[in-house]
Amino acid sequence: MRYISTRGRVAPLSFSQAVMMGLATDGGLLLPESIPQVEPARLSQWATLPFAELAIAVMRPFATEEDLPTADLRAICQRSFACFTHPEVTPLVHVGGRRILELFHGPTLAFKDVALQFLGNLFEYILARDGGELNILGATSGDTGSAAIHGVRGRAGIHIFILHPHQRVSPIQERQMTSVLDANVHNVAIQGSFDDGQRIVKDLFNDLPFREQYRLGAINSINWARILAQTVYYFYAWGRLSSGNPQRRVSFAVPTGNFGDIFAGYLAQRMGLPIERLILATNRNDILARFFREGLYGTGHVQPTVSPSMDIQRASNFERYLYYLLDEDGAEVGRLMGELEETGRIVVPEAKRALAANLFTACAVSEEETLTQIRTFYQETGYILDPHTAVGVKAAEPFPDAICLATAHPAKFGAAVGQAIGHEPEVPPAFSGLLERPSRCAVLAADTATIKRHIMAQLA
Ligand SMILES: *Cc1c(COP(=O)(O)O)cnc(C)c1O
Repeated sequence: MRYISTRGRVAPLSFSQAVMMGLATDGGLLLPESIPQVEPARLSQWATLPFAELAIAVMRPFATEEDLPTADLRAICQRSFACFTHPEVTPLVHVGGRRILELFHGPTLAFKDVALQFLGNLFEYILARDGGELNILGATSGDTGSAAIHGVRGRAGIHIFILHPHQRVSPIQERQMTSVLDANVHNVAIQGSFDDGQRIVKDLFNDLPFREQYRLGAINSINWARILAQTVYYFYAWGRLSSGNPQRRVSFAVPTGNFGDIFAGYLAQRMGLPIERLILATNRNDILARFFREGLYGTGHVQPTVSPSMDIQRASNFERYLYYLLDEDGAEVGRLMGELEETGRIVVPEAKRALAANLFTACAVSEEETLTQIRTFYQETGYILDPHTAVGVKAAEPFPDAICLATAHPAKFGAAVGQAIGHEPEVPPAFSGLLERPSRCAVLAADTATIKRHIMAQLA
């Protein structure tokens, strides 16, 4: 399997090269040259596999045996998912007639652990094999940062720099990152928004001499390995529900920000998983919802919400979807992304929008609706939704059979939950005393040159 760029100007790469490159050198995103197909008979067999075994089966065709031998992939998967506190890793639970896929049993209690534990182990494996060092650079709106830091803390040959928007992440999220004192972990609070952070990261990746000299690696959802690891739980959830009947179609409601998680669902569908509908749920930062309704993708200003991990105005993974929607025409994707850069908006023809709407149903959920959803669900079932999950559950209202992805543990967003139900959720053991722990973090201007100097100084 070889990897190409959504903008078509990168020579084909191996899986390991794609993982180490992160963002493509032509400014695009990396994708496999073709999407492996899963026959119905094989799908049925997968339905009963435990999570780590399923992960091996799903991911196997995305790298050649020579590049990543099965025995090594097995070791990486087993190590990555052993640190989850639930034996099923991502259990599917039934609560008050709703199906909820709990993705928050990893070390930082957010779904991003699934992919980032895998990516941390994968980086370590590739570096040990090929030699060299890696400096991971990423921007976070909260959960990615802590999950990434926990994925690579203390690992040899790796430094990690994570930018988060100063005082725009929850206190628990902030402390989950800044209380990790390993010498290879560098937290930076930028005086700006998450989009500023993403822009700085993109600028530094596009600074090719800097990027090469410092061997920058990505851990944002632009890294292909993260998307791949996330496809696994779509297959897993389907297996739990379908009893292996390949005719059984399911829908998923996905709380969406950067379009990474839902793109993994799209990939699963393209591989042959019988997905009926992908319900794309946004908060009031609704750029993606508008796209699927109107065909217009236009960036605006970020509005803070009670679901901050979805507070974005430019969804970094959307370009991958656009590539498929535009019939894998890299030149056209490059042209449109240039237009987006210049004018802040792009429009796709109505026929394309209608095609997208055959699979995706988009819904933007207001702040009030989110809190009401948490409250009524709690009153009816005693189960506490985190605000992100609540956005998805609300969007799934017209689809009672849909599986709702639960992307974070409610205790991560205790204040918002408290606002909805009158008390904060119980704090799990991983969080006890967190806010009192010592921490380390640099507060810097949201400016590319400043961040570049800081990285150089830290690594000197
Ligand atoms: C990151 C995140 C999301 C959004 O996922 P994307 O892959 O960026 O679309 C939703 N909920 C939570 C809790 C998150 O951390």
